[in-house]
This record gives sequence, C-alpha cells and structure tokens, in this order.
Amino acid sequence: MPFIALHPEVGRVDATQRDLGAGLDWSQVYKVSPRVALTCPECSWGVHAKHSPNRVRFFCHDGGRPPECSLANESWEHHMLKLVMASANRDAGMFAELEVAGQDGSWRADVMATSPDGTQRIAWEAQLSPITVEEIKARTDRYAAEGIAVCWVSPHKRPPVWMGAVPSIRVRIPDGDDESWVVDDGLGSFGSGSWFFQEADLAQFVKWVVRGQLRPCRSVTPNRDVTRIIGTEYRWFRRTLWWTSRQSAEAQNAWEEERIRRAEATRRREEAARQREVQRLERQAAARARREAWLATPAGQLAQQRRRELQKLKDAQEVEQRAAARRLQAQRDEERARHRAELQEKRAREFALAQEREAEREAARQELERRAQTTAEAWWGRLSRSQVKELFTAVFDAAWQQDGIRVRIPEGGGVAASFAYGVPVHASHRLYGIVRPCPELVALSPQLAYHQVFARNAKEVQALEAGGLRTSRLTHFHLADHEQIALC
Ligand SMILES: [Zn+2]
Repeated sequence: MPFIALHPEVGRVDATQRDLGAGLDWSQVYKVSPRVALTCPECSWGVHAKHSPNRVRFFCHDGGRPPECSLANESWEHHMLKLVMASANRDAGMFAELEVAGQDGSWRADVMATSPDGTQRIAWEAQLSPITVEEIKARTDRYAAEGIAVCWVSPHKRPPVWMGAVPSIRVRIPDGDDESWVVDDGLGSFGSGSWFFQEADLAQFVKWVVRGQLRPCRSVTPNRDVTRIIGTEYRWFRRTLWWTSRQSAEAQNAWEEERIRRAEATRRREEAARQREVQRLERQAAARARREAWLATPAGQLAQQRRRELQKLKDAQEVEQRAAARRLQAQRDEERARHRAELQEKRAREFALAQEREAEREAARQELERRAQTTAEAWWGRLSRSQVKELFTAVFDAAWQQDGIRVRIPEGGGVAASFAYGVPVHASHRLYGIVRPCPELVALSPQLAYHQVFARNAKEVQALEAGGLRTSRLTHFHLADHEQIALC
C-alpha cells in the first residue's frame, strides 16, 4: 500500500499530504472517470487511489503487478510507520516527503524531512527487514556524506542487532486508534554514572530531534552496558549510541573526565610509589657499594679488623658473664641446700627436745599420780572395813532422810583421782556427792568446789578445809575415830 504514485501530468503525488504535495485534491485522483493513469514509482505498474477501512489514503497496485515490487511488498506496519513519521515531522514544522531517493541512487529515504530554509535534512528510516550492523553503518555514512542526518526506526518487539550502534530508536505500535506511537528504546538520559532508558511519544521525540534538543551521543566504554526491567526480570543491553539531551551528554562528559582524572591520579600515585621504591633500592645499592669500596681500603680493613677484635672481646665477655652467672647460681643453690639441711636438723632437734620434755612431763605426771595414789591409799588405809561401811551407810541414810534420794553405794572402792581420790556416789544418773576426798590432794581437784562433799567427822572437815577445800556443802556424820589414832 504505497502512499506515493506518479501522476502523468504533475509527477509525484503523496497521499499523506492534503494537497498530495502537488496542489491537487484527493477527489481529483480518487474514483474519477476517466481514470487518471497513476503508476508505481518503484515498478511503474498501474496504481489507483484507495481508502483503508480506517480512512487512510493510499495507492493500490492494479491486478497482475510484478511480484518483486518492494513498495507493494512492504507490510502494513511499515507503511503506517512511514505515515506517522511523515506526520510527526510536518507537525514539527518540517517539510516531509516519502520515498525520496538520492541523486546517484545510493539511498532512498522512507521519509526525508527538510527544514523550511533547506539547511537541515533528516532521513527517517523504517527498518523492518534484518540488516547487519556493518551494512546499516555503511548506509548511515552514505547519508552523512551528503550532510543528511538519519534515524533508524524499528517497530519490532525485540530490539534489532543494530539498535544503539547507529542513531536509532525502537517504537511501540499502538494497540488502538486513540493511542500514540511511543519511543521505547534508543532514547536515554545519563545520571549517577550510567545511562537509563527513557520513553517518549514519537511525535514529541521527532519535535525534539528536529529542534536539535536531542542528538546522538556516543556512550563511553564503561557505560555501554545498561540494565532495564522487562516484566519482572532485569535484562542487560549494550548501547553505543543514544538519542539524548545536551545536559545528559555533558553529564556523561563530566563523568568521563572525572573518571579519567581519577584514573590518572591513581596512575601517578602508583608511579610515584614505584619511583620511590626504585630510589630506595638505588640508595641501598649505593650504600652497599660505598661500604664495600671503603672496606677495600686500608682504613676499612683496619676498621674491620678492629671490629672483629671488638666482637671477639665482646664474645669472650659474654662467655665470662654467663660463667659468672652460672657460678653465682650454683652458689645460691648450695646456700639454699645448706639452709634447708640446717632447717631440717633444727626441726629434728626441736622434735627430739619436745619428745624428751614430753617424756619428762609424763614421768612427773606418773610420779605425781603414784604419790597421790600412795597418799590416797594411806588416807583410806586409816579406816577399817567396818568404818568404811559405816561411812557409806551414813551417806545413804542422809540422802534418803534429807533429800528422799536413794544413792548407789559403789562396791569395793571406786575412788576417783579427779575428785581427790574421794568416792563419787550417784543417784540414778546424777552425781550426788563425793565421799571423803583426801585432804592432801584437794588442791589438785578444784572441781570439788561444785559438789556436795561428805566427811566422817569434824576433824576430817577441818583437815579438808586446811587442805584448801572451799565449799558450803561440806557435810560430816560425827563418826568416832575409835582406834584410829593418827590423823593428818
Ligand atoms: Zn510497485
């Protein structure tokens, strides 16, 4: 469905223009009788004016056209894209023509936009068929050679291989009649050290391009890879060239300058560090060489000799010091051992002495006990068997009559050394009193003072008190001495 046809009288007619670009009205070619002999500029086959269902005007090949005509074979999208680009350029104040070929036939622009003063020309190429990067670059160069800017446009969903290799954009075809064509790829902005994809209405994009507000800008090597979220995933794209604003281009330049400046500063710092290291090694080598040279001189030799001697002396001193330290240590060890031996000996002596004293004390105690026993035996020996019985009967009766207590009279003696060899008598489990302690031994049993003490008569009481017994509970039974003559 080409928009261009050749009119037999006026030449080229353009269905996208109100006056067909030739001062004609559509009614002068559409359904007129007799028919105007319009032909295809590409294959020269007969064409006739026609409307699409949505009122787009175009020229349709007559039946039996040659199959190779490229205009006839172009898709609906291709034609619509050309129509939209032509309209956008016209809205932007440009003069736009379709299917404009170069004079030497080296190019044919889908839409050629020219500024009113004729100084600015931009070719808009709807590129739907596959093309290599080399080929599209070569075609771009051919335009450039004639001072024509170019923008390659793809309406495909997937970006073509040449996207971003030449000045190019990808557009989204609108779903409905009311929607507009949107630039989806090829327009970018630079910020924070990287490029970002931008979107814009195609008509707006064309306006910015023709006004020079957008220009192709080469991305510097570190910034060529750009991420974009598509659906829910991050995707990587390589873009060498962007349509972008002057601000973004300058931002990238400033960023790149700063990057280079920093890299240069780093390089210089590293170079300086390397230089310093080289100098340090050189100084070291020079110092070594100076020293070796000096060592070769007689003075150096002498100094070396002196140093060796000094070292020898120092070594000898050290050996001597170590030996002295060892001797001192041995002395100390010896002293310590001697001291230990002395201490042990002293302890042994003290132990022996203590044992000796203990033995003496034991002997004295035994002696004392023996004497006490002798004294006590003499004391009790003064009484006849019946007198003893008489005494204990008196104790028994007194306990019963005075205190209502039955005391147990021990049988056969029962003297207690701790009670001055008196006889303790018990009532139940309680000690009731001490019977007739020995007056001479009272002083050795102070605990008697806390008990009731029984004696035979006043004489014995007297003797006990004279012996040092101090108790308020000293009782006697007025028993006669009978044949006992000698008392203490
Ligand atoms: Zn044709």
